[in-house]
Amino acid sequence: MINTKFKIIKAHPQGFCDGVVRAINKTKEALNNPNTPRPIYILGSIVHNKEISNAFKSLGLLTITFDDIKDIKTGTIIISAHGVSPSVIKAIKENNVNIIDTTCKKVQFLHELVKEKINLGYDVLFMGKENHEETRGVLGISDKVHLYKELDDYSKYNKLILVCQTTLCYNDVLKEYETIKQKYPQIEVACEICDATRLRQKAGLDASVSSDLVLVVGDRTSNNANSLVKTIKEINQNCYLIEGIKDLKEISFKNIKTVTITSAASTPRVITDEVIKTLNNIDSTDFKTKIELLDYIK
Ligand code: SF4
Repeated sequence: MINTKFKIIKAHPQGFCDGVVRAINKTKEALNNPNTPRPIYILGSIVHNKEISNAFKSLGLLTITFDDIKDIKTGTIIISAHGVSPSVIKAIKENNVNIIDTTCKKVQFLHELVKEKINLGYDVLFMGKENHEETRGVLGISDKVHLYKELDDYSKYNKLILVCQTTLCYNDVLKEYETIKQKYPQIEVACEICDATRLRQKAGLDASVSSDLVLVVGDRTSNNANSLVKTIKEINQNCYLIEGIKDLKEISFKNIKTVTITSAASTPRVITDEVIKTLNNIDSTDFKTKIELLDYIK
C-alpha cells in the first residue's frame, strides 16, 4: 500500500494465532450460553491484551488470581490459553466449580512432553519468563521441573531435558541451546516454540530488512509481542512496540520513507488496521482511537 508519505510493508503472517482465536471464541460461547453456570471467571488474562480483557469485562467476565480459587465455590472458571498445572485443575474440581479450558494445543503438547519425560525418570529444565502464566503452569506439573537459569550448575542431573516456553525468541533459544549443549553434552533439548510465534518472527525479520522504521503492534505485557521486537531489532534497530495509534505520537517520522508493520499473536486486527489508516493520514490525526470496545473481540 503506497501513500504520499510512506510505503507501508505488511509482514505476513501477523496478528491472531489459532490458539488466541480459539480462546476468544470459547470465552464468547461461554458468556452467550445461558446454561453456563454463573458467575463466570477468568483465571488471569484470557490472552495478554488489555483491550481484549476490557471487552470481556464489559460482558460480565470476572478476573481472578490463583489465590482466589480456594474461595470460589460456584460458577465457572475459564482457563486461559497459557494453561495451568494439574494441581490447579484439581483444586477447582474439588470445589465443584465448572471448568472451561481454553489452553492452547501447543501448550498442552508441552505439558504432555514434560509429563512423559518425568515418567521416564528425567528432571526437566524450563526456559521461560519467570512468573508468566505458562511458566507457572509448567513448573507446577512436578517438583522435577526447574526454571532454567543460565549460571546454574546442571552437572548433578543424570537424565535432564531442556524445554522452552512457546513464545520465546526462536534465534535466541537456538543459540542458548547450542551453548548449553557444549557445556553439558548429556542434556537433551527440545524446542517447543510454537509455529505461530516462529513464523511471525521470520515474517517480521523478512519484511524489516530494508525498512526505515518497523512498528510491532502489541500489548506491552505480551511475551509474543516483546519477542517479536527483540527478534527484529537484531537486524533493524529502528523498531518499536506500539499498543495502538496513541503511541504513534512518540515516534519520529523524520526521513522515514518505508514503514514495516507487524503484530503479535494476541493483537486484534482492528488495532493494526487503525495504525495503518492513521499512518496514511498522519498529518491530520488526533491520535485518538475510534475503535469500540467490542470490536476487539469480533
Ligand atoms: Fe498457542 Fe502459540 Fe498462539 Fe500462544 S502464540 S496461543 S502457544 S499458537
